[in-house]
Amino acid sequence: MKIKICIIGCGTFGSYLTKRLLEKHGDSIDITVIEIGNQKTQTESEIGLDSISENSTVSKDGRYFGFGGTSARWGGQVLFFDKRENSNNNATWNRIIDINDKHKNTVINKLLGGKEKYKLPQDQNNIKTGIWLKYNKRNLFNRLNKKNLKKINLHSDLRVVDFIFSDDKISKLICKSKKGQTKEITADIFYLTAGTLESCRLLMQLNKTTGFLNSTGLGENFGDHISTELFHIYQSAPIINGIDFTPHLYKGSLITKRMIVQTDDGIFGFLHCVFNKNIKSFKFIKELLFGKRTTTVTFSEFISGFIFLFQFVFHLFFKQKLYVDKNLWSLQLDMEQAFPNSNKLSLASNTDQYGENSLHVDWDISKHDIDSISEMRKKVEQLLRKNNLKYTPLYNPASTNNKVEDVYHPVGCLRMGHDEKAIVNYNGQVKNIKNLFHFSTGIFPSAKSINPSAAVCCFIEEHLENWGK
Ligand SMILES: Cc1cc2nc3c(=O)[nH]c(=O)nc-3n(C[C@H](O)[C@H](O)[C@H](O)COP(=O)(O)OP(=O)(O)OC[C@H]3O[C@@H](n4cnc5c(N)ncnc54)[C@H](O)[C@@H]3O)c2cc1C
Repeated sequence: MKIKICIIGCGTFGSYLTKRLLEKHGDSIDITVIEIGNQKTQTESEIGLDSISENSTVSKDGRYFGFGGTSARWGGQVLFFDKRENSNNNATWNRIIDINDKHKNTVINKLLGGKEKYKLPQDQNNIKTGIWLKYNKRNLFNRLNKKNLKKINLHSDLRVVDFIFSDDKISKLICKSKKGQTKEITADIFYLTAGTLESCRLLMQLNKTTGFLNSTGLGENFGDHISTELFHIYQSAPIINGIDFTPHLYKGSLITKRMIVQTDDGIFGFLHCVFNKNIKSFKFIKELLFGKRTTTVTFSEFISGFIFLFQFVFHLFFKQKLYVDKNLWSLQLDMEQAFPNSNKLSLASNTDQYGENSLHVDWDISKHDIDSISEMRKKVEQLLRKNNLKYTPLYNPASTNNKVEDVYHPVGCLRMGHDEKAIVNYNGQVKNIKNLFHFSTGIFPSAKSINPSAAVCCFIEEHLENWGK
C-alpha cells in the first residue's frame, strides 16, 4: 500500500518538497497538496488572512499566497550557513551548519535546475559567496512539470484550518474554502509548509486545544534581519580589501559576494553593495523582474538611461557581469536580531475572512539591535578609510530618524533544536506529534549572515535522506 502524504501549502518549500518527494519516492507515495491560493499570486488581504502588526511589515508585505507562495516575488538569493557564523561553538548551530554543509551542493543544483553541476567556491576570510537565481528559476512551483502535477492531488482555494488527533498522531485535517465549505483530508504523514507566520499561527491554534507544545517556545523569539543603508561610496570600483564585489553571471544567474560582519558580543550580519540605485532604467528592469504590475519610472526616464542600458546589456552579454555605475554605489548592512529576544507571535482575538483568529506580530527593533548597527557602522567606516574610499555616511548613530527595516527573513518562532523549548527537531518533526513535519525559516534561531531560504531546503534534503529509517 502506498503511503499517504499531505502537504499543507504549495509555496517555496511545499513545492521544493513535493518535487523532491516525487523524485525520491514517487512510486511508493500518494501526495495530496492543500493550497489556500491558486495560479494568481495574492497578498495577505487579497487572500483573506489578517494580522495585527504595529512595527513590522513582514505579514503584509513579506509573504504571498498562491502556487509558489512567496517565491513568486522573492529575490532568489541562495546562501548557506557556515562555520564562520558559529564562533562560540553553539551545539544547535553546529548541527544546523553540518546539515547545510552536507546538502548545499544538492540544493544549489536543484535550484539552478540545469544538468551541469555547480559548486560554490571555497570562501576566504569573511567573504561569503551566494547565487542570485535567474528570474525564470525563482518561482519554485514552476519546477513541477506536467508529469509531476499529474501524480499529485492538488486542491487549490482551500485553507487548512484545523488538525484532528488520535493518540500522538494527526489523523486528518479540516480545510475550509472562502465560501465556508469544509473538507476533511486524511493521510499518514503531514507536512506543514504554509510559511513561517501561518504555520506558527496554525500550531498556536492547535496548541490552544491540545497543549502539546506548552513546554516549547512556540511563537517566541521572533526575529528578522534589520537592514539599513550605511554609506554612499563615490567614484570607485566596488573593491574592498582586494575583493571585487561586482556580481558575475553564471548561466543567467548572478554569483554575488557579501562580507560577514560580527559585533563584539557575537551578533552576526552582512555587508553588501547596492548598485545603480539612482538609475531609473535599472529601477525599471528590477521592478519588471520582481513582478510589479506598475512602475514608478516614466518612459522618458527609461529612455534617458540609454547609455546605461547599453552598458548594462554589453556587460551582461560580453563581460558576463553586472554593469556597475562606479560614480555612486552604497553599502547596506543587514544585522540579525539576537536570540533570545522579546519579540513574539500570538493569536489575536479578531478574526479574518475565514472566521479564523488573526495573527498578532509583536515585533520591534530593540536598543540592542540599534547598538549592534552603531558598532558595525563604526567598524565599516574604519574599513572604508583603510581602503581610501570616498564616502558620505547615511546612517547617523545620534539620530532616531534612520531608516531601519525588517527584510522578510522571519526566524526563531518555530525554532529547531534538542532542548526542551525547541519546537521541531533536526528532522523537521514537530514535538510530541509523530507524523507532523514543518519546514520554514522559522526553524532557525536567528538569521546570521544569509538570506535563509536555501538553508531550509537542506533540512528537507536531510529529512528525505532519513525517510523510512
Ligand atoms: C520581497 C522578498 C524578497 C525575498 N528575497 C529572498 C531571497 O533573496 N533569498 C531568500 O533566501 N529569501 C528571500 N525572501 C524570503 C523567502 O521568500 C521566504 O523565506 C520563503 O519564500 C518562504 O517560503 P515558505 O514555503 O515558508 O512560505 P511561502 O513561500 O509563502 O509558502 C507558503 C504557502 O502556503 C500557502 N498557505 C498559507 N496558509 C495556508 C493554509 N492555511 N492552508 C493551505 N495553504 C496555505 C500559501 O498560499 C503559500 O503558497 C524574500 C521575501 C520577500 C517577501
